[in-house]
Amino acid sequence: MHFPAQGTLLALVVAAAALAQPRPAEQKDRSVYGYTDTPVLPNQRWRVHDAARPHPRVIVPGTQSTPERPGRPPSDAIVLFHGQDLSGWTARDKQGPREPGWKVENGYLEVVPGTGHLVSQEKFGDCQLHVEWAAPTELRGAGQMRGNSGVLLMSRYEIQALDSHGNQTYADGQAASIYGQFPPLVNASRPPGQWQSFDIVFEAPRFADSQLVKPAYFTVFHNGVLMHHRQEVVGRMAHAQVGTYAPHGPEEPLMLQNHGDRVRYRNIWVRKLTGYDQP
Ligand code: MG
Repeated sequence: MHFPAQGTLLALVVAAAALAQPRPAEQKDRSVYGYTDTPVLPNQRWRVHDAARPHPRVIVPGTQSTPERPGRPPSDAIVLFHGQDLSGWTARDKQGPREPGWKVENGYLEVVPGTGHLVSQEKFGDCQLHVEWAAPTELRGAGQMRGNSGVLLMSRYEIQALDSHGNQTYADGQAASIYGQFPPLVNASRPPGQWQSFDIVFEAPRFADSQLVKPAYFTVFHNGVLMHHRQEVVGRMAHAQVGTYAPHGPEEPLMLQNHGDRVRYRNIWVRKLTGYDQP
């Protein structure tokens, strides 16, 4: 049998005794309640591990979707569509507001050509948006005429929905592009008929005295893959011209585009963004 050298044995006994000692009460409390004597963090009003720093709200996270069924939104999300009806939505076409006419069946929404864009009644500024969509399986048209729809934050700034699975179009118009401005970083499109997801973090532009003082920014994941990373937005969505900014409210409705193709949507939810240390 092997015995450790006497010096090593002593060191082990001392270490074990130290571990067995109860930690001083103050030190234990700090691990629970935080510190009051640590350095102040740069550009913050809080100390490192500050005992006075407010705790984040507790929420219940959602669940992932499967091809068969949509996941559950986080508990603090504003659910805009979860399979039932078009309550919370209105519609708009060139003539102005109108009754929403998109089809609701089997837990999804489907674009009905000629019934206008779908517009949320609730308005949003800075937000996190989750939306799932599927391009039609019937392949009609090519380029921008195949499975075209889109998610327009503030009814102006479009993340493109398009069948981009083996369907060529200009780069800044394919699925997950900031339409007419930036192509997605990669093409992670699924075939038509399969559910795809956009997870979008949007920072609304700011205006003061009718002047733009801060542009909008998009962070976008398509099917879980990063497409835009806090990308500055050039201006509102425009076709064949450079989009520009025009003043609008701090919160505006979300819009789903009716481009005449029977694109489907499901599991649409939004979380308004709050900052650190806010309730
Ligand atoms: Mg579009």
